[in-house]
Amino acid sequence: MTAQYNENNVFAKIINEEIPCNKVYEDENTLAFHDINPLAKIHILVIPKARYISFNDFIIHSSTTEIVHFFKVVHKIASTIVGGYRLITNHGANAEQIVPHFHVHLLGGGKLSGFSGKF
Ligand code: AMP
Repeated sequence: MTAQYNENNVFAKIINEEIPCNKVYEDENTLAFHDINPLAKIHILVIPKARYISFNDFIIHSSTTEIVHFFKVVHKIASTIVGGYRLITNHGANAEQIVPHFHVHLLGGGKLSGFSGKF
């Protein structure tokens, strides 16, 4: 059975402008904003505006054009981070995906820790 997208998730509310975000980038299909609970000096979340639950859902159900556009935007934002960056995306319970709207975490701004914590 395929999981249903939950319209009440916090990122859907940010896309619908029901709740605010600290915006970094926006275009017709994509939104990027600062994580409310940053785990690095720079911690940005990049999301497609379309309703995809996770990376899995996005890759299976989106078009090649959407995938390429999304990751080009991720790269554009990542390229502004001096000194390197880390990309993370969580899928499913074992990865502790909390918000069920596909998102990429973009971390940087200083030396990043290893993978002993959540990241
Ligand atoms: P994940 O565990 O991959 O689902 O990560 C969800 C991320 O969303 C966490 O890092 C949260 O801190 C972040 N988050 C939750 N609510 C908000 C919000 N309103 N604005 C910005 N980031 C949020």
